[in-house]
Amino acid sequence: MSVVSSGSRRVLVIGSGFGGLALAIRLQAAGAQVTILEKRPKIGGRAYQLVDRGYVFDMGPSLITAPYILDSVFRAAGRRLTDYLELIPLDPYYRVYFHDGTHLDYVGDSERMKAQMRAFHPGDADRLDAFLEAVRPIFQAVIGDRLGSKPFDTLSTMLGFVPRAVRLKAHRPVTSVVNRYFEDFRHRFIYSFHPLFIGGHPFHTPAIYLMIPYLEREGGVWFTKGGMYSLVEALGRLFRELGGTILTEAEVTRIRVQGGKAVGVEVGGEFLPADAVVSNADVGHTYRDLVDPAYRRRWTDKKLRKIHFTMSCFLLYLGVRRQYPQLQHHTLILAERYRGLLDDIFFRKVLPEDFSMYLHVPTRTDPAMAPPGGESMYVLVPVANNLSGIHWPTTQKVFADRVLSFLEAWGLEGLRESLEVLHLFTPDDFARELNATHGNAFAIEPRLLQTAWFRPHNRSEDVANLYLVGAGTHPGAGVPGVFLSAETTYGVMAQDLGLPPPWDADRPGRVDLAAEGSVPLHPPQLEAQGVL
Ligand SMILES: Cc1cc2nc3c(=O)[nH]c(=O)nc-3n(C[C@H](O)[C@H](O)[C@H](O)COP(=O)(O)OP(=O)(O)OC[C@H]3O[C@@H](n4cnc5c(N)ncnc54)[C@H](O)[C@@H]3O)c2cc1C
Repeated sequence: MSVVSSGSRRVLVIGSGFGGLALAIRLQAAGAQVTILEKRPKIGGRAYQLVDRGYVFDMGPSLITAPYILDSVFRAAGRRLTDYLELIPLDPYYRVYFHDGTHLDYVGDSERMKAQMRAFHPGDADRLDAFLEAVRPIFQAVIGDRLGSKPFDTLSTMLGFVPRAVRLKAHRPVTSVVNRYFEDFRHRFIYSFHPLFIGGHPFHTPAIYLMIPYLEREGGVWFTKGGMYSLVEALGRLFRELGGTILTEAEVTRIRVQGGKAVGVEVGGEFLPADAVVSNADVGHTYRDLVDPAYRRRWTDKKLRKIHFTMSCFLLYLGVRRQYPQLQHHTLILAERYRGLLDDIFFRKVLPEDFSMYLHVPTRTDPAMAPPGGESMYVLVPVANNLSGIHWPTTQKVFADRVLSFLEAWGLEGLRESLEVLHLFTPDDFARELNATHGNAFAIEPRLLQTAWFRPHNRSEDVANLYLVGAGTHPGAGVPGVFLSAETTYGVMAQDLGLPPPWDADRPGRVDLAAEGSVPLHPPQLEAQGVL
């Protein structure tokens, strides 16, 4: 650990994803001088925005859960989330269409869920409360007791957690827990698929990630007016108001290390010195491409090759001059195969004949995101990462056509003839645009042996004064995950740089959510506390 004397806290943050932005705000608010260096023309990372002929698309994340986690960043700077954004609650959270034509509207309210479940399997409906009771302690551990924002950087922290994890059965696969409570395939799916949101295979992801549906249930699912990019813009604005600097089209090519310490970065042929360097970029890229192998005792090239990076996504951004009311704001359309399809994507790494997909239709909530009477939507099909060897330049058009034909046959009549805008984003684009190793969509897979202490640490194990933030470090991917990673990384940097601790009760604008009794949170409780 290194301590940098106060008065010389120049921090460079590589990358402007949510994790980079949230950490930069925390550091700048605490008195550091922070500069964000972003490779692309605009900030936001995976939460990038595409605008074409009046159609506005969020290119990645589309649903907001746990707004109080986002609000804590604004509070760290003495502001409120609601000073910058209008949050809209969604109901249902999403609709899931199954292969047999049935559907479920997924909502947080247990009684409404039970009423729907009873039609498919009354026994499953009766067991919902018991399932939620079994998951609650996991949520309590990760969010309530802050394991999600505690640095798992010593083996003793990890070993200290193991008995609790075993007691909670948090190490067992998500599906093995879910299948003990539910028999109907619809219920088994709807309570087990959430790891896919962060690149995990539900049959292999540990049950600790069951805290995601619980998080949704307790905190709601939200949308920000204008789209997810308005959250990016709000964070950028707040950071600049605090005096921070953002440089775009500034790709870092080297983290310079001297005497085992990061001393700055090389960008555009120039050297920028710093007291601390944070990378929000892909972890594989950070270590492999930016840090000289001579300084990497843990994250050697060999070790990096052993990391399981997540699957990828094939995305179609569609500007349509008509509307499809059968689509909710968030809609899933599923193939008959569940495990087999995932195995094709995760393990066999092939492009199957069938596919499941997620559709984001923000115009259902905010019609201003498309020209009048139109629909702005994206279709996300999970696909293998680039270890598959799929040649996307020759495959993408054919595959897009298959997806569009499927959607027309499924019920989106006249889709192709109503298209005004069509853009594709493939695993190659994840690799090229975001420097994502193997074109992964969600960083490092949330497997048991890639969770907590096993992930690359928030404070680099190899280089002093180098830190990681974002989906590749602890706790992991997803918007709440990377915001929590910013809190975790801030905590270790605060120790090293002599900055105020993250939850200093005496510091105005800082608040201990747990001490306020704000966990668990329902939307009305949020409102009562003035969070919303
Ligand atoms: C299609 C899709 C849908 C998703 N949907 C949801 C959702 O609905 N809800 C949810 O919670 N999560 C969702 N996620 C996950 C979530 O978006 C991510 O986990 C999160 O946004 C990642 O943030 P991050 O901080 O890790 O940084 P990233 O967004 O990965 O940003 C990293 C930044 O680093 C930059 N960079 C890389 N290399 C360099 C370099 N050498 N120099 C300078 N800059 C560099 C990149 O350009 C990029 O801007 C989704 C992800 C995808 C891909």
